[in-house]
Amino acid sequence: MSTPLNNAATRALLMLLPWFVLMMTLGVTWFTWDHERQNASHALRSQFDFALRETVSRVEQRVLGYEQMLRGVQSLFATTPLKNRAALHDYVETLQLDANFSGIQAIGVVAWVSKQDKAAHLVNMRSAGFPDYVIDPDGPREVYAPIVQREPYVGRNRAPPGSDVWLDPMRRMALERARDSGMPAISGKVQLKADTQSGAPPGFIMYLPIYAQGQPHDSIAQRRAQLIGWVYAAFHMNDFMASLYGNQPLGLTLAIYDGTDGKDTSLLYRTGGVAAIDEAQRQTAAVSANEYMVVAGHNWTLSLRTQALFEDRYGRGAETVIAVAGVFLSLLLALLTWLMINGRERALGLAAAMTEELRHMAQHDTLTGLPNRALFNDRLDQELARAKRQGGRFAMVFLDIDHFKPINDNFGHDVGDQVLRQVAKQLLASVRAADTVARIGGDEFVVLLAHLSESDTILALANKLHQALKSPFVVAGHQLAISCSVGVAVYPEDGTDASALTKGADDAMYRAKAAGRDGVRLCHPLG
Ligand code: GH3
Ligand code: MG
Repeated sequence: MSTPLNNAATRALLMLLPWFVLMMTLGVTWFTWDHERQNASHALRSQFDFALRETVSRVEQRVLGYEQMLRGVQSLFATTPLKNRAALHDYVETLQLDANFSGIQAIGVVAWVSKQDKAAHLVNMRSAGFPDYVIDPDGPREVYAPIVQREPYVGRNRAPPGSDVWLDPMRRMALERARDSGMPAISGKVQLKADTQSGAPPGFIMYLPIYAQGQPHDSIAQRRAQLIGWVYAAFHMNDFMASLYGNQPLGLTLAIYDGTDGKDTSLLYRTGGVAAIDEAQRQTAAVSANEYMVVAGHNWTLSLRTQALFEDRYGRGAETVIAVAGVFLSLLLALLTWLMINGRERALGLAAAMTEELRHMAQHDTLTGLPNRALFNDRLDQELARAKRQGGRFAMVFLDIDHFKPINDNFGHDVGDQVLRQVAKQLLASVRAADTVARIGGDEFVVLLAHLSESDTILALANKLHQALKSPFVVAGHQLAISCSVGVAVYPEDGTDASALTKGADDAMYRAKAAGRDGVRLCHPLG
């Protein structure tokens, strides 16, 4: 049988096929996984960018809102003198800071007091309900900028007035900027004066200048000359941020630094409190960015980075599912391929075995296992061809058991079968390996005695076979003695082809029968 599978190269290729399938499907899995991962990464990045823009915009809007509010306070003092305490008190009350400007700790007034005006200022403040009023710290200076009023006048805001904010560089820079520009200006990171205890949360202050009523303040020089004080709003950064977001941006860490250095000492605000920066978290953030922004003339750095929650929510696509399912399916497909190929191999092996079995059955006698007539004819042809090529002799010996029928009749067919098997065995034991013993009929056997030498006496060989069946058989407890009639034809004397030899041997055998059985006859008595 010849199929492509018998080809070793094809077989090797087939064996590689499951691996090829595995590599291909894993490759496709990897490609899909990578694609999904990149998509997820882009999605995360754009969500993050959106959150960053949104946060910056909210901060800017919020600062603008406070600026508007403070301009309202500023315009209040365009119509009423700075010392009109009731005016600011009532105004702030109507603002309802808690509800509308919840990030503000205080709205207040800083007076601009020269050395010459100091005495009158003290008198004025002491008669306004602060009998112990002093400028803090006291001492002779050219100018003073004491806080003179804080609203709403509750809680910490009841801390004594008089704190000179001109002495603090952080505040002074903003005071000067507001004075010279006429615009809102915010300070750097400060601790509010009302927060008298240390460890208070960081804050900042927004100032707007108040100029003398009815005087021009179009140039810096005029503005400096006409300055009478400032209105301010004071903020705790954490409250400012709380007012910014009803809810914090989910899964993001937001930090705001004063200025652009981004140092911990400049930290104004951080999600979860102004604690030390969590280095591990900073490092593991999938996305982070800094954004510089200018609020009321002042620099802030807004630093945003993702937390695991955000990354899970926006950065995880189906890549894990793809990876797991892809690897699983790849293995499954490779396994199926392997099974298919192996199943085919097994089936072909089975078919080959069955074919061989059929071939054997077609050429052998099932009862004795001896070659049948068909195989015998093949062997005869081969022997004829060989003998013609090389020269030499061979003999065909026909044997028919004498009176076999009665054995069947007397002892049963099974016993007859046993006898036939015994005969086969005896004949096989009496010949050489190169000879062929075949069963060609019911009780008819033939022996092909291959390439005989000159010294072999045909008659002696035939007699040996004849004698082989003489010893009694014991079958199923019965001792049976049988005999046979033998006819012999020899190549080349008695014939040089299959039919002549067969006919010759057959005829000789019938002559033996006719002569009373239990004997040997040669086709050609002289042979
Ligand atoms: P003879 O050869 O001496 O003339 O007499 P015989 O009784 O042997 O007659 P013949 O050779 O013509 O008949 C052979 C008998 O062998 C016929 C049949 O009943 C029997 N036989 C043929 N094949 C089988 C077989 O496979 N098993 C058994 N048990 N008997 C068989
Ligand atoms: Mg017979």
